[in-house]
Amino acid sequence: MNEYDTNRIFDIVSTIGYKRTEVKTEADCFVLNTCHIREKATEKVYDEIGRIKKYFRNFNKPLVIVSGCVAQAESEEMIKRESYIDMVIGPQSYYKIGDLILNYYRRKKKIIRTEFEAVSKFDELETFPNTQNKISSNITIQEGCDKFCNFCVVPYTRGPEYSRPFKQIINEAYQLVNSGTKEIILLGQNVNAYNYFENNKNYKLSAIIEELNNINDLKRIRFTTSHPKDMTEDLINCYKSCNKLMPFLHLPVQSGSDEILKSMNRKHDKKYYLSIIKKIKNIKRDFKISSDFIVGYPGETEKNFDETIELVNKIGFINSYSFIFSPRPGTPASEKNMNNEKDNQIKLRKLQNILENLQFDNNKKYIEKYCEVLVENKLKNQTKYFGRTKYMTPVIFESDDCNPG
Ligand code: SF4
Repeated sequence: MNEYDTNRIFDIVSTIGYKRTEVKTEADCFVLNTCHIREKATEKVYDEIGRIKKYFRNFNKPLVIVSGCVAQAESEEMIKRESYIDMVIGPQSYYKIGDLILNYYRRKKKIIRTEFEAVSKFDELETFPNTQNKISSNITIQEGCDKFCNFCVVPYTRGPEYSRPFKQIINEAYQLVNSGTKEIILLGQNVNAYNYFENNKNYKLSAIIEELNNINDLKRIRFTTSHPKDMTEDLINCYKSCNKLMPFLHLPVQSGSDEILKSMNRKHDKKYYLSIIKKIKNIKRDFKISSDFIVGYPGETEKNFDETIELVNKIGFINSYSFIFSPRPGTPASEKNMNNEKDNQIKLRKLQNILENLQFDNNKKYIEKYCEVLVENKLKNQTKYFGRTKYMTPVIFESDDCNPG
């Protein structure tokens, strides 16, 4: 989602004369679009600002803007901690970045914009065409979250669930396909909670997928990230009716223990999660899945952890993300007693070994096999190309005659 926002920020600032540069000392303005999901991400922002300061020791200071969820969560504290920052803009306000920059140059006063705006950001963004011309492009269709998992900051930094107008999304998809996109990844913090009403009609994520499936030059459709609770029948049926929907889903489970899922306020249990996978596999036999896991959630016992391992082995995830619990300020879980850090690390290593072996076993099945790869780009200064299989597995291959896309 930050990648999408970053591209849109670029679309906006290019209207007031900015261009991208890869030469850091050439830049007049740095925008650090940030993530707040883990503590490390916040510290990385300050580290990066430290590096910018160093580059510019002997030059004029550039304009430094922090946007995204760290900006939202820390707001004016950021400028108090690091006076090199000139502007702090939350994820709901970045559509104003062009005007804010012009204002800054007029008034030379630090700017903080972290309120949740009443005006719809996406209505404003519609006036700036999406200029991404990548083979695989993202479209944000939904933002925010009403689920309030006890460990997560998203409901506080991105606000309540919001769904973009259906037609706006389809128009953006056509724009992208007309400029060469072959794969669209629909994005949302809870992408499958997409729920839009217009003229007495209710549009769900399934309606968007069905509409995109009819675009001739589009080859692949994906969506991420989903909550198990919102895997409704109409969405599951898209795996039957929409041939462009890839047979791969990232569906975070977080833990294999019902006790921990309850304590996390995840609103699903293991049995329900398994039932979704079974339903999709009944429709699409080659369907595969990946997930997110939190290890060492407060109160997690050895027995709870073993249940996670059992679930992992049972499902055979082909690719997953796993982390030790990171307490985020302001969330209910941050007030609980932390588990022993050393034990957490041992557990994480054990889980990651199993997940890596599952991924490796899955990849081994492709040795000396042909498979369809959507080629995205040529690697810099090489005769190699990069693409992905339908399961998102990266593939790098040699070719002297290949057209990405
Ligand atoms: S559903 Fe996802 S985004 Fe929402 S609170 Fe839970 S983990 Fe965070």
